[in-house]
Amino acid sequence: MFPFFRYYLCFFYLLYSVFPARTFADFTAATASLDGDNNYAWRNFARFLDAGKGREVNGMSELKKYLNRFGYLPIPPENNFSDSFDDQFVSALILYQKRLGLSVTGKLDSETIASIMSPRCGMSDLIKINHSVSTTIRSTRRYAFFNGQPRWIRSSTLTYALSPDYTIEYLTSSEIRKVVRRSFSRWSAVIPLNFTESSDYESSDIRIGFFRGDHGDGESFDGVLGILAHAFSPENGRLHLDAAERWAVDFEKEKSKVAVDLESVVTHEIGHVLGLAHSAVKEAVMYPSLSPRGKKVDLRIDDVEGVQALYGSNPNFKLKSFLESEKSINNNSGSSSSSSNNANFFFFLFFPSIFACFLFFFL
Ligand SMILES: [Zn+2]
Ligand SMILES: [Zn+2]
Repeated sequence: MFPFFRYYLCFFYLLYSVFPARTFADFTAATASLDGDNNYAWRNFARFLDAGKGREVNGMSELKKYLNRFGYLPIPPENNFSDSFDDQFVSALILYQKRLGLSVTGKLDSETIASIMSPRCGMSDLIKINHSVSTTIRSTRRYAFFNGQPRWIRSSTLTYALSPDYTIEYLTSSEIRKVVRRSFSRWSAVIPLNFTESSDYESSDIRIGFFRGDHGDGESFDGVLGILAHAFSPENGRLHLDAAERWAVDFEKEKSKVAVDLESVVTHEIGHVLGLAHSAVKEAVMYPSLSPRGKKVDLRIDDVEGVQALYGSNPNFKLKSFLESEKSINNNSGSSSSSSNNANFFFFLFFPSIFACFLFFFL
């Protein structure tokens, strides 16, 4: 009788924890409790899972502000977002799902909510917002440029420097410089541009720093997770990282569950500095989101085609060998970024069930 009762409880616990609402509660609670920090951005969006059309959902205006922030929803004439799940919100969701390469359902399903909650770059996904967002869809290619396709023309050698003032204390300067050097080298391997480090921050073409909150460029950072970084289109050269993140150069040493891979984010932001906007290809470096402890540093063909459309190819770049190495990356890791996202997702999804079953069977 008692063992049967254990199986019975386990079965229902599995059902209960696999139920999506529970999943996201577990996802957010687990992330927060593991780090003793319940204050990271967008954790509250989990409660909108499966909210239905036509309903008023308390706090939905925050989700609308999020979609407006990244280019999917224009500010309404009355200047205030409502809490209703209306037609315009459905259109914005569909646009978001298309642009992020998700299943296009027009619903707040688990894939969409997980994507919305995922930490990401602060740059807009649809660069130009006119009166109607539908005019800005770029559906024919997956990589994208900023409006007017700006690119660097002042020189084929660009200098970059790290801010001596706006930095973080827990990583050494040489650790950060090494990561930044590697990130630039990935881009210079495919286009005829060189990047050299300079010690003169103010006069460098590309200026990199860690900034906190409102730092004077109109694009405030938001604390742990949420927005990770942003950069400016050519030939501005500013590349800003959110100083509130727990930046990691080595996940063997950095154990925080909310740690963010510095190299992945710097590589992505350099893409913006060079003139690329966000791609809809999940595996691409220029895809806008990156899960905590996720790593995505290798350029994909979508990134390469995008940046080469702006600058041409590096004479030493061999497309055939690039495609072969990309194929081997795919074969070895599935799709690297999504597998790492999925690994995190499924950990939070199934960990409570497995742990509960362990208790029932062995205690
Ligand atoms: Zn970005
Ligand atoms: Zn900034």
